[in-house]
Amino acid sequence: MRSLTVTLGELNAGPQEIEFSFTQEQIEERLGDLAFPRAFHRVQGRVTLEKISGAVSVLGHMHGFLTVTCSRCLKATKVYPPESFRFTFIREPDHFDQEIELTADDLETAWFRGDTLELEPHLWDQLLLCVPMVPLCDESCEGISYYKGQEAETPKEDPRWNALKGLHLDIEPSPK
Ligand SMILES: [Zn+2]
Repeated sequence: MRSLTVTLGELNAGPQEIEFSFTQEQIEERLGDLAFPRAFHRVQGRVTLEKISGAVSVLGHMHGFLTVTCSRCLKATKVYPPESFRFTFIREPDHFDQEIELTADDLETAWFRGDTLELEPHLWDQLLLCVPMVPLCDESCEGISYYKGQEAETPKEDPRWNALKGLHLDIEPSPK
């Protein structure tokens, strides 16, 4: 994997494509407590950088998965990275005015100083955005069910027999 630091000069000749991948250890560290213990994570992608006047547009793709813990049932749950994403590097102004500061955390804007673009922190932002604060294996996850095993041992009555419950049969000997 090549460096995720790019200088503006490298983009003078035209758009550059850069491939990247994050290691198991890097992902575990970033996910922290959300990571499922000893689970696999795999994320790879590529970005295309293009200089457009003073700014640099970044178009990226990622694939792979992260394995997090469902916050209700604690089962391993896969989360998929954003298939495609886009942001723009803009040169950091000498003085931020208030209006700019408000949008500085925006995922579509990345600031750079001098002529060096640091891609890596922005790639992490894009990736971690797809991880919910409260991950769920399924919206309808009911959490840990301690009684599940017990319920399974008691067979439920088949509702199809309900119609027979009120039925009284007078059985008469059939005429000869
Ligand atoms: Zn769950």
